[in-house]
Amino acid sequence: MAERILLCLCHMSGNEMKYINEAFADNWVVPLGPNVNGFEKDLERFFLGTDTTHCIVALSSGTAAIHLALVALGIGPGDEVMVQSFTFSASANPVKYVGATPVFVDSEPETWNMDPNLLDRAIADRIAKTGKKPKAIIPVYLYGMPAKIDEILAVGRKWDIPVVEDSAEAFGSRYKNRYCGTFGRYGILSFNGNKMITTSGGGALICPDEEAARLVTNYATQSREATPWYQHERLGFNYRLSNISAGIGRGQMTIAEEHIAHHRGVQRQYRKLFADLPGIQLHENPGPDFDSNFWLCAITFGPDIKVKGDDGCGRPEAMRRALEKENIETRHLWKPMHLQPYFADAPSYVNGVSEDLFSRGLCLPAGPYVGEKEAERVVAAIAGAIE
Ligand SMILES: *Cc1c(COP(=O)(O)O)cnc(C)c1O
Repeated sequence: MAERILLCLCHMSGNEMKYINEAFADNWVVPLGPNVNGFEKDLERFFLGTDTTHCIVALSSGTAAIHLALVALGIGPGDEVMVQSFTFSASANPVKYVGATPVFVDSEPETWNMDPNLLDRAIADRIAKTGKKPKAIIPVYLYGMPAKIDEILAVGRKWDIPVVEDSAEAFGSRYKNRYCGTFGRYGILSFNGNKMITTSGGGALICPDEEAARLVTNYATQSREATPWYQHERLGFNYRLSNISAGIGRGQMTIAEEHIAHHRGVQRQYRKLFADLPGIQLHENPGPDFDSNFWLCAITFGPDIKVKGDDGCGRPEAMRRALEKENIETRHLWKPMHLQPYFADAPSYVNGVSEDLFSRGLCLPAGPYVGEKEAERVVAAIAGAIE
């Protein structure tokens, strides 16, 4: 059996243990400490450069980061939040955590992300129906592809609604030369095991200023007041990143640029290989403003592509099974949230784009262990599974 090719496996730089050993030597095996501060500084250097207004707070997960962004914005029961439907459930679940209602908005076909025109119409319709303005807009950078964020921000400005960017998959992606996650009121990052960099589990919130960062840090540490006794004036959370995990993060930051370059290199490989396979479309940057990190490479099947073994299960599933037999891991595109049983009651504004993509797309391996040979094996297996 040929060696297994995984979708996206974590890859260590070799520097991680140095920071972890330091934490042990100094007995900083706790959810704060020098690695947390160091990791936040590393992230700020990477994402913000000379911008000294924004601040980054390291948290226990990307999901926690979205949750605290909503808490910091004062969103609660009775409120609505506009969420991209075509995404992983973690974009939408925190809206339920705060007792608010997600309102799902479909995607446009170029970036696969939130359709700004549909968003605008959906907000107008929510106000007409409920008499209230939605409290936030959560666009997502699916598979690392920048959304049409200028247009989305313009809609946010028009209605005076803050934007929270779910940049969990887009570490290092840029729109008009600026990093995704730094455009909205808040931006969230994830360092889960299979993301662009990992802390085994972790996340971060890019905050608009120091005051917001202090508020978020306070919420993340049980909302403890600065009194000698434990005093709490707000609901608190235990969402800080551990000093051990942050040590992994510091090590990962030493090779973040290499990881991103590698993923873009895998996309180039696929581009070359799929050129000989008409009918299979690789998801690409739609123009020079867009610079995806290609966290996962994704394809769609054109109308003429028939997949062997499609017994009614659909082409993506038939292809996934065929590649699994070749020991290659692939994944369906995210099943839109407006089709999820759990969110069946949530309002949604749908244009058919995410349902169409879900019915004919697939994510391909793109991680640190996918080289030239592996990409060739993946594309050969795909070619072999087409009728
Ligand atoms: C991974 C992911 C998250 C959540 O991040 P965690 O760190 O796993 O909690 C949120 N949104 C999207 C789009 C993701 O892919």
